[in-house]
Amino acid sequence: MYPYDIAMSKMYNEEDYLLLSGIQHFAFCRRQWALIYIEQQWEENLRTIDGRIMHERAHDGCSSEKRGGIIVTRSMPVISATFGVRGVCDVVEFHEDPDGVKLHGRRGRYKPIPVEYKKGRPKMHDADVLQLCAQAICLEEMLVCEIEKGYLYYGETRRREEVEFLPELRNKVYLMLEEMRELFRRRHTPKVKTGAHCRACSLQNVCLPKLCGTRTASSYIKSMLEEG
Ligand code: SF4
Repeated sequence: MYPYDIAMSKMYNEEDYLLLSGIQHFAFCRRQWALIYIEQQWEENLRTIDGRIMHERAHDGCSSEKRGGIIVTRSMPVISATFGVRGVCDVVEFHEDPDGVKLHGRRGRYKPIPVEYKKGRPKMHDADVLQLCAQAICLEEMLVCEIEKGYLYYGETRRREEVEFLPELRNKVYLMLEEMRELFRRRHTPKVKTGAHCRACSLQNVCLPKLCGTRTASSYIKSMLEEG
């Protein structure tokens, strides 16, 4: 039995809910996640601006429309009381299927498929996959169904990558949420190994001086002026 299965018997209070969007930051770097979600620090660089613009495009319209046998819903809020997480799905497609679920105000039955929009191309790490899986877990709880797969759409390749929500992946999401919750409870920002990935991090300026235990140039100059 996976810890994921045991979690099914847990329930969280609303104030303890984590944000879905944090999963990709956490998977990329625990320290980055803590700086954003615990210390509330955020700096935009070109990459984050690109990503934000792309998300705004994906969210443009914020409504449902039906194309053929598919209902496309944008910016759908999702929540899981069992896993204590909430957030927004970029896009959820509902495909007409006799084995699917009933939707309020719609005829027929539909299978939900989450689609997350990302800038760039598929990555070496699994941050995007974990975030998508967490969305599926929320949708399953809300719609009382099972979701086998979803898609990641990458702006640079303009392609969809299929993601299967296998038990190992679900378990990884669960363990990650537990780790996030524990750090959040302790308000702890961990130290981590720096590496090449730091070059793509929008928080280098606030993270690295602290992490290395050195002072920023501005704080050094400020203290020198105060001493003088
Ligand atoms: S600079 Fe590196 S260690 Fe610091 S938050 Fe960013 S990715 Fe993590």
